[in-house]
Amino acid sequence: MSAFWQVLCLNGRNTLSLQKFSTMEQRKVRVRFAPSPTGPLHIGGVRTALYNYLFARQNGGDMILRIEDTDSRRFVPGAEEYIKESLEWLGIKFDEGVGYGGEYGPYKQSERRDIYRKYTQDLLDAGKAYIAFDTPEELEAARAEVPNFQYDATTRGRMRNSLTMPEEEVKKLIADGHQYVVRIKIEPNEDVVVDDLVRGKVTINSSILDDKVLYKSADDLPTYHLANIVDDHLMKVSHVIRGEEWLPSAPLHVLLYRAFGWEDTMPQFVHLPLLLKPVGNGKLSKRDGDKLGFPVFPLEWHDPKSGEISSGYREKGYLPEAVVNFLALLGWNPGDDSELMSMDELISKFSFAHCSKAGAKFDYKKGIWFNHEYLMKKSDEELCQLFKPILEEKGISGYSDEYIGRALGMVKGRANLVPDLWDQADFFFVAPESYAEKDVKKRWSEDTPRIMGELVEVLKGIDDMTSANAEKIVLDWIAEKGYHLGNVMNAFRLAVVGACRGPHMFDITEIMPKEEVIARIERAVEKIGK
Ligand code: GLU
Repeated sequence: MSAFWQVLCLNGRNTLSLQKFSTMEQRKVRVRFAPSPTGPLHIGGVRTALYNYLFARQNGGDMILRIEDTDSRRFVPGAEEYIKESLEWLGIKFDEGVGYGGEYGPYKQSERRDIYRKYTQDLLDAGKAYIAFDTPEELEAARAEVPNFQYDATTRGRMRNSLTMPEEEVKKLIADGHQYVVRIKIEPNEDVVVDDLVRGKVTINSSILDDKVLYKSADDLPTYHLANIVDDHLMKVSHVIRGEEWLPSAPLHVLLYRAFGWEDTMPQFVHLPLLLKPVGNGKLSKRDGDKLGFPVFPLEWHDPKSGEISSGYREKGYLPEAVVNFLALLGWNPGDDSELMSMDELISKFSFAHCSKAGAKFDYKKGIWFNHEYLMKKSDEELCQLFKPILEEKGISGYSDEYIGRALGMVKGRANLVPDLWDQADFFFVAPESYAEKDVKKRWSEDTPRIMGELVEVLKGIDDMTSANAEKIVLDWIAEKGYHLGNVMNAFRLAVVGACRGPHMFDITEIMPKEEVIARIERAVEKIGK
């Protein structure tokens, strides 16, 4: 934990600021999700987008997608498309922003240079910011000389900037093409209050802040801080809902609102708790996912540089509604013991009053449980649609939707992720190639081929293969002959399924064509023999 962050914690009074909220209520709720396209969207970022969406929808507000791409060195091609596709898959919708239109655009920061230039100039003109020419080497030298150096009221007087240099010289350096940055001029010893709906009012002293760079002439672009504040203001953002990692920037942001004279329209801050490792301490990382076998990205990501492929929830066979439900409960609770909640229910129940300050352990097993529950809710038709890509991939065709749906409906209770349906229902689509050795040993004796031959004749004589009817006829025959029920039924199952597993035998034979069932029995007799 950084020293800075500790100061924030120590000064925080963890009370909810209702007064501020009631004034905010007058304002139209406008929230933004503002990712930087520096790679795939992490699952924590998805949760941030989700909470923004729930809050916006609950309050009849607007949800904006702003792309914060001012750091060109970290730009990754494909990241923006990935972010959009991920959120679309999850049903997190935008009203405004990149690709969605709106009257406050452009919504991509790299297209807003003129705007940032103007606001940087405004701060310079008002004496709230200054120009600095210090080279990296000079900054390095200052760091070596002054213990715990930071560029601030105590040190800026000895650096090369427009506060220490004559105006003429500053102008000349700029005219000669020297690179410079613009820094905020932070006045020392002022109280800075960050009013946060989850953390309460957090007060820090401005003296611990440094004069952060707001603009760099080298790429004629603002830094994150300036662009973020200017855009939130111009886009009339009412609530800034983001991850806890941005909390240390919040005091600077408050000072920027002050410097611009925008305190009255400053958004309400909400910093969401961190997502923590499933086991041990610390922030959830991609490595945890790799180690324990769960994705940390919504969709599969193909890294354009390294070619590395990272797994995604969608491709692993999670349902979007399960991922949404699971993520919603990482850092928030509905105040009662409800767990399964649709997007609409989440929208109506969501509240920052029930968001925790403490980090949320990423219990990926709970995510699997959610998926199972949502799979159970699926109708046969829905299951069929989810499953078709798997059949296609395996080159299997010729089955009716009804057959596919009914087969899956029988096995869904044993599946967690969509591909598990294949593991459970494979025999409905391909006849067994081999037979589980252990089961053969236990259930297939010298008598079995003869008894299976009789069973074939019994089956041939059944006209109505509905489960209860076929069951009655077959069980009557077994009883009449005095055969061992378990042995006959398990051998039957072994022949049709390939192992002693699967749903009720007569439910299987109700939907599987009788000729196929008979062919499988005959094949087993031939293959296993005895
Ligand atoms: N661009 C920042 C990010 O990548 C936005 C942080 C914020 O929401 O202010 O998350």
